Amino acid sequence: MSQFESLRASSLYCNKCAKAMPVREVLLLVLPDKEIYDYLCTGCSSSLGSREVSAGDLMVSKAAMGRRRAVRSPASPYPLGY
Ligand SMILES: [Zn+2]
Repeated sequence: MSQFESLRASSLYCNKCAKAMPVREVLLLVLPDKEIYDYLCTGCSSSLGSREVSAGDLMVSKAAMGRRRAVRSPASPYPLGY
């Protein structure tokens, strides 16, 4: 099923080549809060587009909310009031 994943944004229309061409994804710029990728035509190496990936998409939040369970003390073996 990896074929479907490789299909997305793998080809874009190129004006110079006058047809949809396979593109190469190149990491263009790395910023503190995002990364910018450039799509280059594999035929003429002209830029066909770019994509920004925000840091929020890159980093998976590890803030797992570990809820502490209140430990219930077992009922007293000695009944109260009697
Ligand atoms: Zn081209």
